[in-house]
Amino acid sequence: MNVQEKQAVDDVICAVAPEGLLAELTHRCPLQCPYCSNPLEMDRVNQELTTEQWIDVFKQAADMGILQIHLSGGEPTLRRDLVEIVSNASSFGLYLNLITSGVLLTREGTKALADAGLGHVQISIQDSDPGNANRIAAYKNGFEKKLQLAEWVREFDMSLTVNAPIHRQNIENVENIIDLAVKMGADRLEVAQVQYYGWAFVNRAALMPTYEQAVWAQKVAEKARERLKGIMAMDIVVPDYYAKTPKPCMGGWGRRFLNVTPSGKVLPCHAAETIKGLEFDNVKERKLLDIWMDSDAFNKFRGTDWMAEPCRSCELKEIDFGGCRCQAFAFTGDARNTDPACGKSSLHGQIVELAKSEAAEPPPPFVYRRLKGKQPASSP
Ligand code: SF4
Ligand code: SF4
Repeated sequence: MNVQEKQAVDDVICAVAPEGLLAELTHRCPLQCPYCSNPLEMDRVNQELTTEQWIDVFKQAADMGILQIHLSGGEPTLRRDLVEIVSNASSFGLYLNLITSGVLLTREGTKALADAGLGHVQISIQDSDPGNANRIAAYKNGFEKKLQLAEWVREFDMSLTVNAPIHRQNIENVENIIDLAVKMGADRLEVAQVQYYGWAFVNRAALMPTYEQAVWAQKVAEKARERLKGIMAMDIVVPDYYAKTPKPCMGGWGRRFLNVTPSGKVLPCHAAETIKGLEFDNVKERKLLDIWMDSDAFNKFRGTDWMAEPCRSCELKEIDFGGCRCQAFAFTGDARNTDPACGKSSLHGQIVELAKSEAAEPPPPFVYRRLKGKQPASSP
């Protein structure tokens, strides 16, 4: 390939490169959140990519023009090679964000990650009430450890995002949760109404707020966002089942992000494996760029040509890309259908009624997230 041809290829790659890569380094996690987005059947430790394989994935990502890597899980700090992974990925010029439950890191470990080039930490919190937070995560003293980690993140000059999944068992505390994020020194807070995939789908009735609660919490968060301008940025994720139009899931299928599972499968979104009939390529067998550009799974729902009505003729199709494919599959058995979170879907009325009827009943016990084969646990 001559210089001009190489430049032409580089230009094409730059024009279509994903913005970010979510690297699920492991599915292991000491917490057991009942809304975890991990699949019900999780990868085991002996299936995880090696240190060298992850470093190679990040080298390929940098060569593709990807700028941000989100190191996620499970709990990514369970990987003993995390500092080595961060150090190598950082040397490729990648911006690194650690998405963590925040309960395992020591001060020395946090410093080592900062020194290795980690730029950003995202800590998830379960509630502003310590007892309820620890109950939801099924992890003793987790709340206190998260607050401690937030201090160390600030001490070592990294940016901090707090992620707060909101549901019927903490929604009344939404104001206190926002205040807590300010106290933790967060640069950004995500107030995210739970999305019903993975374990959250199993626990939907235990998590679903009433319509009135969801609307109230939304207003509280919007008011706080105004009040906190210049102090803390806020992202607000509205509840799908009570929405009128769906969210542009992943910014459009195969458009802005990709996800690599602990065992190396490359997915357009973390829940994509719930869509039966799709085959996903693995970084052990195929180059990341090749998968991004040419794999069947990524091309299946790219753009708008695959759409059926009402999306096909809708003026919003380039904005929300028909919503979530996984949710469309879960409700209709065909991922090409309109996400039922959309008011134009013939199923929309049904999911609103389903949500309202589940929220009207007392919450059933949580089914806590556990690796398959371990004792299923439920809340008292
Ligand atoms: S949502 Fe909870 S259980 Fe799932 S990976 Fe995050 S901290 Fe662990
Ligand atoms: S019909 Fe399709 S494109 Fe239009 S708003 Fe609904 S999901 Fe979005």
